[in-house]
Amino acid sequence: MSTQPVSTDAAAVKAADRAHVFHSWSAQGLIDPFVVAGAEGSYFWDHDGNRHLDFSSQLVNTNIGHQHPKVVAAIQEQAARLCTIAPGFAVDVRSEAARLIAGRTPGDLDRIFFTNGGAEAVENAVRMARLHTGRPKVLSAYRSYHGATAAAINLTGDPRRWPSDTASAGVVRFWGPFRYRSPFHAETEEQECERALRHLEDTIVFEGPGTIAAVILETVPGTAGIMVPPPGYLPGVRALCDRYGIVLILDEVMAGFGRTGRWFAADHFGVVPDLLTFAKGVNSGYVPLGGVAISAEIAATFEERPYPGGLTYSGHPLACASAVATINAMAEEGIVENAARVGEDVLGPGLRELAERHPSVGDVRGLGVFWAVELVRDRRTREPLVPYAATGEANAPMAAVTAAIKAAGVWPFVNMNRVHVVPPCTITEAEAKAGLAALDEALTVADRYAA
Ligand code: PMP
Repeated sequence: MSTQPVSTDAAAVKAADRAHVFHSWSAQGLIDPFVVAGAEGSYFWDHDGNRHLDFSSQLVNTNIGHQHPKVVAAIQEQAARLCTIAPGFAVDVRSEAARLIAGRTPGDLDRIFFTNGGAEAVENAVRMARLHTGRPKVLSAYRSYHGATAAAINLTGDPRRWPSDTASAGVVRFWGPFRYRSPFHAETEEQECERALRHLEDTIVFEGPGTIAAVILETVPGTAGIMVPPPGYLPGVRALCDRYGIVLILDEVMAGFGRTGRWFAADHFGVVPDLLTFAKGVNSGYVPLGGVAISAEIAATFEERPYPGGLTYSGHPLACASAVATINAMAEEGIVENAARVGEDVLGPGLRELAERHPSVGDVRGLGVFWAVELVRDRRTREPLVPYAATGEANAPMAAVTAAIKAAGVWPFVNMNRVHVVPPCTITEAEAKAGLAALDEALTVADRYAA
């Protein structure tokens, strides 16, 4: 018999939530959380059976879909065998998870430091880079998100850092490439790439290369707008890092493990970083897990000298068991290939077609199951549907669009003036088409605000 406090009373669940759960990134008195009763595949539902097609993958992490039976079984089996063991021990599931991850990461990123999520991975990658180089500074992009812990939020460019940005010593921000809102006033992709690289090199030179430990970049920036970089950009950044002895950290917490239609987004660009951070898709968030994949050269720094960092739950057996099952299922079931195919055949063409018909759509961009729809008031001026970092009344148009999408049975990931279409990598073509049809209907709400 189950001893879990499973409730079928949605009102009681919500009342207890409102009384006792303190929610992330929220004014506690202004939220009205949706009560979830269950989930499977590409859908989740409430206690009345109202289903939503999950176009958010929760926080862009359930790449393998909800309740994948192989992953659920692996967690159950591991729970029966060994629930917890300190990080200092060697244990089969941890070794196997590390071996499988190292086998998929690009180049010689063959050592895995496990964390419980993305921000901790970023914290540790930065610590490794600083100790490896003996230099203090880290360069990060304005349009970025790297996590909510102390160092990670300071490396973050997006406005969530503003209230916490009191101690950004050692962090210097630069502009990455973004054709639609070019910080370089470029007219072509090639110009954008060239100018973005020149800007980064100028930043390095003026900061003093000998003071810079690392450049950290999301391979394809996610929360900040899914901006696929021009083909030459990341190879150019790699060359700059090599020239100045700077560690290149690629943050693939969101873009990794199939999201872009390849195992890692770096695979699209033929670039091997020195450190790669991952989380989310590694086990689709079934149990908290993240980590840093470490190059042979950086791993060698800590062969004789201890690495001064660790976490009680590093390489947790339940998390590792779910990672092993996830990675094996993704390979066996062609899930990464499915993400690529759905992106190419359905989401890309479908979203571009919506852009032609809806005056509120300024831009669509992405790859795999990683797409952003940027909403504007005026296509010509590209004025965003809501101002940057708008809240409250100023954000009302986006709140209305979001409500319309949800009312049409789809749950999107929305950030600022963008609707992100980020379903599980397992989504079928028919589900993706159904989601686009709902989006089509909901975008008429956005069109009312557009010129
Ligand atoms: N890096 C990136 C690129 C992310 O998208 C996120 C989370 N959205 C993080 C780091 C932080 O991960 P976590 O929330 O697991 O700490």
